[in-house]
Amino acid sequence: MRCIERIFRMIGWTEDQIYRAKLWWNNLKIRLLPEAYYRLSWEYVEWKNDELKRAYAILQRMQQLSQEGGDEVYIYNLHPDIPSMVTSINHTDQHTFTDEDRRQDLRRLRAEICKLQKGLVTGWSNAPDNAVTWIYRKYWWAYKDGRTRIWNHRRQKCADGDGCCACARTCGCCEKVLYEYWSRDYRNQGRGLENTGSLQKVYGHCTAECACCVITHGVYEPGFIAEGRSNS
Ligand SMILES: [Zn+2]
Ligand SMILES: [Zn+2]
Ligand SMILES: [Zn+2]
Repeated sequence: MRCIERIFRMIGWTEDQIYRAKLWWNNLKIRLLPEAYYRLSWEYVEWKNDELKRAYAILQRMQQLSQEGGDEVYIYNLHPDIPSMVTSINHTDQHTFTDEDRRQDLRRLRAEICKLQKGLVTGWSNAPDNAVTWIYRKYWWAYKDGRTRIWNHRRQKCADGDGCCACARTCGCCEKVLYEYWSRDYRNQGRGLENTGSLQKVYGHCTAECACCVITHGVYEPGFIAEGRSNS
């Protein structure tokens, strides 16, 4: 494919035209080859999607706990798989949740998200290099203002589940950045953050940890919670 790409470039095709040709070609390959051929790739896609939903749940809880008194919202969460209060709270006495408890919970969640992020990078790098992986990386994960195509597509599912994307909701939670971090690329010339780093923005959709949904519905049950996957 690289050799063909070079020929296209030589005859004057633009990068956009080459991209569209590759998209068409990879889609065709997926359609023509038996499903079993891509089984491993689909498993990777499913695994990554699940890990990301868990990450959104953790990030939503972190965002909520970062606010003073933010833990209070979880007292009202009626989700059967979520402790009715944040984990370190003493269930017999709701009022013992101190600022130190909140800091400890945040530290634990931060460590959890770092582990998850690392696991995602190393895990996904083992995915087979084929048409499915290409489409997932270059089409579904194509960025536009920090938002991916897959995020855009999932607005529908979020709305159907009466999450913050639903028409009746005016909060616009999912439109806001959930998490920001700098990623380094030392292949770029120069030194310093401005030359080698780029600010990555993460946008998610509602999970059982979305405080806004918990307040609205009393319980929000889209399947993913910060402590692991719900069986429901
Ligand atoms: Zn929500
Ligand atoms: Zn909302
Ligand atoms: Zn949403």
